[in-house]
Amino acid sequence: MLKVRGLKMTNLKEYPYAASVYIGRFQPFHNGHLNSIISALQKSHRLILVLGGAYLSPSIRGPWSVEERIQMIQSCLTKQQLNRIDFIYVRDRLYCEQLWIQNVKGEVAKLIDSHLPIAIIGHEKDSSSYYLKVFPQWVFLETGNFKGINATDIRKSYFLSENLKSAYDKMPKPISNWLKNYRKKMAFKIIKEKYIYIQKMKLNKKLNLNSEVSNVFIVCNNYVLLVKSKQILRKNLFSMPEIEDFNQFDPQNSILNEIIFKNFNNKLNFKLLNQRIFDYSDRYPIGMQKSNTFYFQLNHENLPTVLPGKNSEHVEWTLLDDIHLLENQIYADHFQIMKWFLNFTSS
Ligand code: NAD
Repeated sequence: MLKVRGLKMTNLKEYPYAASVYIGRFQPFHNGHLNSIISALQKSHRLILVLGGAYLSPSIRGPWSVEERIQMIQSCLTKQQLNRIDFIYVRDRLYCEQLWIQNVKGEVAKLIDSHLPIAIIGHEKDSSSYYLKVFPQWVFLETGNFKGINATDIRKSYFLSENLKSAYDKMPKPISNWLKNYRKKMAFKIIKEKYIYIQKMKLNKKLNLNSEVSNVFIVCNNYVLLVKSKQILRKNLFSMPEIEDFNQFDPQNSILNEIIFKNFNNKLNFKLLNQRIFDYSDRYPIGMQKSNTFYFQLNHENLPTVLPGKNSEHVEWTLLDDIHLLENQIYADHFQIMKWFLNFTSS
């Protein structure tokens, strides 16, 4: 049986494509996105909107959750348009590209038979648009650039209150109304604080825009050690402990700036299981910051008691099986880094 919701075979003749796939972050949804949706609905029976970056914690690149983004998009489409649109959302798999591609294809296949003519629409705006070409089974339809509108500039204007009117003019009215209301929320203030911090950092001429930090993924008896750092970008979010220079990390001294192992006079028994440099280009908003991450197993019968160090507010052991429950509260790509180690470390 052919899978296309509500599709009669005769309808197919009306449109060259049974469905168009439109992938995006839509942070926020703007007039360029809306224009692409309208043109896709002229060419295809159905439109599948794929929202990327699902379950990520709020950041300056992605302040809004999947639910908020769907709400925003729905608010500016008609009932007739919405009847022809399916929303799906997928996790980023920054260190496992094939898995991301399979995930997108798999979710689309649940809605439409892959033998029907399918298009993928979008605009090749820069090198980050490479993903439009990784689905050769779908016909790529370039939408062209709509009025040079750019979501990154809109977010910057919005959170830093610069040229607000011009930013609002670049999006459908229901979205600007939604965003005006959102300014009253605590979530707005948290992202605004990060923007101000980043702006200040970028003015610092001595700043090294190509840096590397070290993180430690410490596991003991199926528990992982997570911290809430005082550092503004990581504040209120769980992350793996960070150390500026791996040489400073001396497991035997058992004291880090972010963790103190309490009452632990015995030697801590660390075993290095794996190590990798994680270098997704947008993982850090101030220049390029790679993470050299070390996966340690701590061999102790009982979990050592831990306290926050001078740079952190909170530290805790979390059951490894439960980290997915915290996914949207975990800093940047740290959830994906931990999952990568768990999947690709042989014991
Ligand atoms: P976006 O919201 O910036 O853009 C969505 C689409 O609209 C793009 O095709 C873009 O070029 C187009 N567009 C933007 N401004 C336009 C304008 N003014 N006129 C016409 N078109 C315009 O989203 P994005 O960042 O391109 O989204 C890609 C998503 O896919 C992200 O969530 C990303 O994380 C995800 N992704 C994940 C992986 C992985 O995890 N391995 C790999 C590739 C992509």
